[in-house]
Amino acid sequence: MTLESATSTMTTKPCDRDVQLAWREAQRMIDLISTPEAEVSEQDRKWIAQTTYQNFANHINKGFLEYRKSVTETSDFSLTDWYGEGSIMRDVLGREFIDMLGGFGLYSHGIRHPKIVAAAKAQLDRSPQYSQEMLDPMRAHLAKVIANLTPGDIQYGFFANSGTEAVEGAMKLAKLYTGRKGFISTLSGFHGKTLGSLSLIGKSVYREPLLPLLEGVRQVPFGDADAVEMVLHAAKTVGDGIAGVVVEPIQGEAGAVVPPDDYWPRLRELCDKYDTLLIADEVQTGFGRTGKIFGVDHWDVTPDIMCFGKALGGGVVAMSGFFSTAKIWKCLEPNPFMHTTTTGGNPLACAAAMAGITVMLEEDLPRQAAEKGEYLIGRFIELKEKYPHILQDFRGKGLLLAMIFPTDEIGYKVAAGLFSRRVLTAGTLTNARSIRIEPALTVSYEILDEMLRRVDDTMANIVF
Ligand SMILES: *Cc1c(COP(=O)(O)O)cnc(C)c1O
Repeated sequence: MTLESATSTMTTKPCDRDVQLAWREAQRMIDLISTPEAEVSEQDRKWIAQTTYQNFANHINKGFLEYRKSVTETSDFSLTDWYGEGSIMRDVLGREFIDMLGGFGLYSHGIRHPKIVAAAKAQLDRSPQYSQEMLDPMRAHLAKVIANLTPGDIQYGFFANSGTEAVEGAMKLAKLYTGRKGFISTLSGFHGKTLGSLSLIGKSVYREPLLPLLEGVRQVPFGDADAVEMVLHAAKTVGDGIAGVVVEPIQGEAGAVVPPDDYWPRLRELCDKYDTLLIADEVQTGFGRTGKIFGVDHWDVTPDIMCFGKALGGGVVAMSGFFSTAKIWKCLEPNPFMHTTTTGGNPLACAAAMAGITVMLEEDLPRQAAEKGEYLIGRFIELKEKYPHILQDFRGKGLLLAMIFPTDEIGYKVAAGLFSRRVLTAGTLTNARSIRIEPALTVSYEILDEMLRRVDDTMANIVF
């Protein structure tokens, strides 16, 4: 089916509402997902695949369909998400993929970890949301659990639903505490796409069309502590206050960029010297991904504020949060309604997060990430020797890794070749020079070896 024909077979919503149709459509999908997976008919599966494509074209965004087509060598571009377990995903027609993308770091525990699913189900049968008026035990308990995992004197927390909300909250807290408005962030850094976080982002494509954003934000090269000092010094000299320095411990979206070892310790020193807050955006690096519980643990640094998201919800429920010290949190006490959310930190999300944390500790996911990361790097060294004109380099820590290619074109060919060999990775047409490898921390060595075989086969078949 072409994009044009999908749009022209549109049967819904030409211009007016159709309440009966809305009802029927909702009920049909509920019936389908209530059918045991083995009993979903071939006909229904085809219907799902086809209508998903049409619904994307008619009701979500045609651009996604064009994008998928552009990053895919085969006709698989309309693959329909349907079922997952551990590191394996199956589309609705039963085509099986190895997941090396991990939902961009969301699936650290693998897809549908049984213990996390069970905890969420248990809480669903009690109370999935809060009354908003009584004290909620799950949120308070989770805050205690996380306070005991975080470094130094980090103690208080606020929960929300998405990573960008965690960053927004951290920015508000820094402004309230310091009474200043400026921030320093990094080039190629990623912190989310709502207007506040977007102000920090280090890429013009997402920022420029939306200017003006927050005032007083300056971006400096990642990994360059001297650049941070220069801006802090200049801002102080001219009287522009900097509320916080917001940095990812290891840049995720930019392609697993690891800073020099003295970077984080120096950021800590500089923030102390210039009396500004150090904000670690651990949305992607947190909870074991890089081989330690938190990214900053690699350098034994305690930030003033930490932001969490993605894997915090155990890959089951959307969950995020920001945490800070008692001293800083005090500024939120006179009016605890200064920052609120109706659904953030709901009991369902807290149950999933607590189960996710117990799984991380029981299965020692940080150690698993560190060991599997070492293993993959060893294998990347072999691939680089075998295909020096294709695999230029690799980088990262734990299971936040990236392969680096000499050109966008070669990277794109690898990404498309892997996709056609049923390996999901994060490779895009616009920035294909690096492909992120970010599997579940629970991934088996068998699956990693199978992935590596497919990478080898892809590279062996690239024609220049
Ligand atoms: C993904 C990400 C975010 C944004 O999280 P969303 O849930 O997509 O809003 C923020 N910071 C970092 C470091 C991220 O990787």
